[in-house]
Amino acid sequence: MQVLKFGGTSVGSVESIKNVKSIIDDDQPKIIVLSAMSGTTNALVDIVKRIEDNDFVIANTLIQNLKSSYILVINDLLTANKIKAQALQFVDEVFGLLSKLIHQDLTAIVSNTILAQGELLSTFIFNCFLNQEGIVSSLLPALDFMRIDKDGEPDFFYIKKNIDFLLQANPNSKIYITQGFICVDEYGDISNLKRGGSDYTATIIGSVIEASEVQIWTDIDGMHNSDPRYVDNTSPISHISYDEAAELAYFGAKILHPQTVTPVRHKNIPVQLKNTMQPQAFGTLIDSNNISRGIKAIAAKDGITAIKIKSAKMLQAYGFLKKVFEIFEMFETSIDMITTSEIAVSLTVDNPKNLERILVELNKIAHIEVDSHQSIICMVGHSVVSDADTYKLFQILKDVDIRMISYGGSNNNISLLVPSTDKIKALKQLQNYVFSKPVLIT
Ligand code: ADP
Ligand code: ASP
Ligand code: MG
Repeated sequence: MQVLKFGGTSVGSVESIKNVKSIIDDDQPKIIVLSAMSGTTNALVDIVKRIEDNDFVIANTLIQNLKSSYILVINDLLTANKIKAQALQFVDEVFGLLSKLIHQDLTAIVSNTILAQGELLSTFIFNCFLNQEGIVSSLLPALDFMRIDKDGEPDFFYIKKNIDFLLQANPNSKIYITQGFICVDEYGDISNLKRGGSDYTATIIGSVIEASEVQIWTDIDGMHNSDPRYVDNTSPISHISYDEAAELAYFGAKILHPQTVTPVRHKNIPVQLKNTMQPQAFGTLIDSNNISRGIKAIAAKDGITAIKIKSAKMLQAYGFLKKVFEIFEMFETSIDMITTSEIAVSLTVDNPKNLERILVELNKIAHIEVDSHQSIICMVGHSVVSDADTYKLFQILKDVDIRMISYGGSNNNISLLVPSTDKIKALKQLQNYVFSKPVLIT
């Protein structure tokens, strides 16, 4: 069995939905994971924010606008009267619920319920469409099997047991449709796998059902060698390893949720990235076979805070770093980059949630300097550290204000910390030097 995940733009219009149908309609058994239609989760996040700010009138306008956009899609996509009526009724229920929820206390359950509606809508409508087209399909409610534990990790045992049960309960289908992104937590309360989480849903399912392959269908022809949102002349990479994909996803390649490859790498289940708009393009294959050496791609991650911890006590002392790390552990904050000198250690974090409290503790043992609005630029490739072309990286040093360099922590990754204002310049220059394609630096 294959697992195919279609992202927001892949189901973002009537035309794209029809396109998805033609991609999946090949008589092979499969589980289809859908994201919300593009723009919907952002709109739902906005609605939650308006409720938080007591902006109920605007929240209600956003709800009504979103509802109108779904009615337009249904009127265009669904022509069979009975099926269309079912879909319109579902839309009424969803938006009726949203209108009620804006008047309740904004608990985590209420806000997660609001955020979940996009995937519930897209899967219901897509299932209606397949039924209209005479394709037998079943909806598998993700909230009945996708569960995370107290650490936010997938509860694989529970997921397997429940998805197997649901698959057996619907033996006549070859096509199963389920929601990406949404799940329940250890208490059974509605939750989600964080933004972009439908990719993760697909590989979690792929892992528990021992899929032959997981395909991630999106709006670009695979993993590119740099971020196409900031750099021109990027090109797709046909083959990367799980390790390389994990580094790129973690360090900002938006095409993949940071955790995507984790559930499948130890089972060697291949992940294929494909372009819904151009299905014939090869895309990117992620597995662990015959991986070539050298620099494959560059990614960037924003929202980084750098902390410099200076203390004369570090001089020829032991145990100082232990104290520093204990503080980060106490506040459950992970460290991304780290460099040390004789009397100082610089490190970065991407989660500022507990930063204030961390700084209070660090101030007790050292002098602290904090720089926010930083970005990590990460060069990824198998054995990149020993690659002959690595020197090219340092050609950008003269133009970009590099604050930290991490070299050799992993063989697959060299990271630089730069102020976010220099990120695009650094990405463009690296593209120019590393992949030897001239680009205009603006
Ligand atoms: P989906 O809605 O299908 O999940 P996403 O928007 O999450 O799609 O991911 C696809 C987008 O990721 C692309 O349109 C592209 O702008 C962005 N992206 C960032 N870095 C990369 C990269 N290295 N390769 C390909 N796409 C990238
Ligand atoms: N709809 C969710 C989001 O926009 C999940 C996803 O698209 O993967 O973040
Ligand atoms: Mg995505």
